[in-house]
Amino acid sequence: MPLENMKAMLSKAAAGKYAVGAFNILDYNSAKAVVQAAEGLLAPVIVQTSAKTVTFWGSRTLMGWMTELAASARVPVAVHLDHCKDLALIEECIEAGWTSVMIDASARPFEENLSLSRRVVEMARPRDVTVEAELGAIVGVEDDIHVKEQDSHLADPAQAVEFCAKVRPDCFAPAIGTAHGIYKGEPKIAYHILEKVAATTRVPIALHGGTGLSDDVFKRCIALGCAKVNISTQIKYAFIDGFVGYHNAHNTQYDPLKVIQAQFEEMKKGIAANIQLFGGAGQA
Ligand SMILES: [Zn+2]
Repeated sequence: MPLENMKAMLSKAAAGKYAVGAFNILDYNSAKAVVQAAEGLLAPVIVQTSAKTVTFWGSRTLMGWMTELAASARVPVAVHLDHCKDLALIEECIEAGWTSVMIDASARPFEENLSLSRRVVEMARPRDVTVEAELGAIVGVEDDIHVKEQDSHLADPAQAVEFCAKVRPDCFAPAIGTAHGIYKGEPKIAYHILEKVAATTRVPIALHGGTGLSDDVFKRCIALGCAKVNISTQIKYAFIDGFVGYHNAHNTQYDPLKVIQAQFEEMKKGIAANIQLFGGAGQA
């Protein structure tokens, strides 16, 4: 199937009270693991690229892989640019064929976040590209974006309503207490904020910092309106552990394709488990 944007998949997910998994890829092997895991479960899926990954490989190379992987898949696949602060890179990705982008101007004052997010919507919508925007500050490290704990703040529900009314994003990422990276303690999720924001903005919510949340936390967040769940750190671990683990177990065998295959299986297994947990299986 040709690549599609997030609009139909997220509105269907929000109505059906499940979430579409959005997985951050690193290379062709991880992209293939995401698409094949979704294909195996007949689930819609979002392949995400961080700004850093786009810069590393180049937008045209990544889009070549994604177009080819999606073309042979029977499930809807969206390609989404995760947390991007750089309007020039957003424009480049839209030009290259990304079907969805995230503008993260959450570190800016409210009015600036509003106007930058609106500019991205104006840039994207005529091209049929969906937009995710963020309000509040999600703690942790997401590639080049570092937010210290003392600088984190939760989204304000009243501001969220104003923000969504003025920006009209296709997907909204309010900071609700989740974090990027590995959780140090039990995450404190502000369910009351999530519930209020989802009900009043009526925009599908993206749950960031998915790695390390318990099954119950996922289920509760999805029931309250999270229609997109981001998984990044878990894939980074599977990428390295799948590779190193195979080599450690077969340390005299220097057969790169076997190592890459083991890495692929490790990533695909985790991705498939998440798709099932989020309720996306059979929804394609
Ligand atoms: Zn995030």
